[in-house]
Order: sequence, then C-alpha cells, then structure tokens
Amino acid sequence: MADAFDIRAQVSDRDGDFERALRPQRFEDFSGQEKIVENLRVFVAAARMRGEALDHLLLHGPPGLGKTTLSAIIANELGVGFKVTSGPVLDKPGDLAGILTSLEENDVLFIDEIHRLSPIVEEYLYSAMEDYRIDIMIDKGPGARSVQLSLAPFTLVGATTRSGLLTSPLRARFGINCHLEYYDHEILKSIVLRSARLLGTQCTSEAALEIAMRSRGTPRIANALLRRVRDFAMVKGSGVVDLAIAKFGLEALNIDRYGLDEIDNKILTTIITKFKGGPVGLSTIATALGEDPGTIEEVYEPYLIKEGFIKRTPRGREVTELAYSHLGRALNDDLGGHFE
Ligand code: ADP
Repeated sequence: MADAFDIRAQVSDRDGDFERALRPQRFEDFSGQEKIVENLRVFVAAARMRGEALDHLLLHGPPGLGKTTLSAIIANELGVGFKVTSGPVLDKPGDLAGILTSLEENDVLFIDEIHRLSPIVEEYLYSAMEDYRIDIMIDKGPGARSVQLSLAPFTLVGATTRSGLLTSPLRARFGINCHLEYYDHEILKSIVLRSARLLGTQCTSEAALEIAMRSRGTPRIANALLRRVRDFAMVKGSGVVDLAIAKFGLEALNIDRYGLDEIDNKILTTIITKFKGGPVGLSTIATALGEDPGTIEEVYEPYLIKEGFIKRTPRGREVTELAYSHLGRALNDDLGGHFE
C-alpha cells in the first residue's frame, strides 16, 4: 500500500510524561463514558459513606480509552492510596504478596493487563479478593509451612483489553464490570481542547475537531496527535493550532483521514483482496494476517464496525462500501488498476 498509516506508532514512550500531565484527576474532568461514570460516582459515594472498600472492579476495552485514568480518579475520589502494577510483572506469588501486604485500608490496587497473570498468581489473588487474606509459604523443603496473613480491605481494579481471556473464577470475583467504548468526535474534540488549554496552546475548535476525527476514537491518540500538530504550529505556523496547520501536520504525519491505523487497513485490504470483500470467517482473516483471532475481535474490529467499515453477518465479516471507497484508490494503484 502506498501510504504507511500507523497512528499507534505515533504514540511513543516519551508520551508517558505528557500523558500524566494531561490525565484528569476527578470525575468532572473525565469526558465521555457517561453511563459508567454516573454509576461509579454512586458506588464511590456509597463506599465512602460506609467507610468501606469499594467493590472490586473490572474495566475492559481497547487501549488508550481511559482505564488507568479512571482507576486513579476512583482512588482520588475515595481519598485513598493508589498502587499500580501489571499482570506480566507479577511473576511469582511473592511479588503479589509484597504488594498486597503494603496496601493500607481501602486502598485501590490497579492491575493492568490482568488477563496476563500467571495461573498460580491468579489463584493467590482469589482469597485476597474474597476474604482479604493470603497464605504464604515460609521456608523450603521439609520445614516448609504455610502462614496465613490478613490484609487490609482493598479494592482491586483489573484492566484488560482482552476480557475474553479472563478465566471465569477471576471474572466472577469482580462486583462491578464496565466496558469502555470508543469516544465520538465531539467528546474527543473537547478532550483535545482541554489538553491544549493545559499545555498553554491556543487551538481552534475546527482544528480540535480535525484532530479528533483522526484519533481512532481514542483519547491517548488524540493527545499524541495534538502534541505533534503543536510542533508544526510552532515551527511552520504562528504557534496557534488552527485548521490549516492541523491539516498540514496530520498530512505530513501520514495520518489516515478516518483515523485508521496500519493493522485496521491491513484487515480491510486482506478481506478485499484475498476474500473478495467477504463474507469471511474471523479465524480465516486472522490466519491470513498472522494475528490472533481474539485480538482482532476485541481490539481492532469493534472500531471498524463502529465506524461502518465492516459488517458482521451470519456468514462472517464483510467490508462495506465505505471500506472500498476509502481504500479503493490506494489499492487500485497497488494492483495496477485491476481493482473495482
Ligand atoms: P488505558 O489505561 O485505557 O490504556 P489511559 O487511562 O492510560 O488508557 O488513557 C490514556 C490517556 O488518555 C490519559 O493519559 C489521559 O490523558 C487521556 N484520557 C483517557 N480518557 C480520557 C477522558 N475520558 N477524558 C480526558 N482524557 C482522557
């Protein structure tokens, strides 16, 4: 394909500090996901009134939609401590025990990528979540014995992009279960305007909407694009992020006008060129792409369906007219004009 569409590649590690600076601290600064926020406000208020730990909470949805942000807000609103770890980091039960025993009453423990916990660590988590206690082994060999430790009541917030991979015993231990959805353009626009304000950058409403439309429904991408467009505004423009400079910067960065990234485009191209536009089964698409079917189903496809590029039919996935018109020209060029 002629163009290298890769929005995700535009989000680098150095965006970490920048993200932290823009991260909303309170519910009122967190835009979108209204239903979830409305419910969480009630649960948080009730837990505070009772002086108890909030129920364990599972947040699932694609990357960059605000799972970490929301968890930090919850701890903040509860007025308790917030500790962060992730599934792959917790290698041994001892790693988990170390963190759990350091929690204070009603603290929030955030475990990112919770679907990647090892089975043995996961099993340890069960009694911690249910009864606030853990059994730890002291000594090795014949002298080994197990000692029970009581933990302070705490809230576990588990985040995952792949809820389909969670075991049912783990899933059943979460009292609250929320699925974060992609953001619409208007909300992303308000997030871009808020971020620009925090950065001390002037940004017009039209420019914010242009950035929002190319952000794949994802606040993390919207903030990263704003950062880059701001550079173009400073160097090539007057410092103000207006529509002309936003378009110029986004074009220069090769950002797809619909906000699709490289893998999105690969999925659409594969269905069109290898399967005549579909319908084709998910696992067949996955094999053709060398990807895991679950990742396509949970991470990529929802956005393509939401934006109307793919339809789910009883016989499989089918691309729409929009996918053809979006990719048509580029494909036609690549295929030497044999594409209709
Ligand atoms: P996740 O944990 O789902 O991958 P994050 O919570 O790390 O996503 O969010 C990525 C960035 O996007 C955050 O630093 C924050 O600045 C921004 N962000 C996410 N959701 C929102 C929101 N609803 N309102 C404003 N900014 C948001």
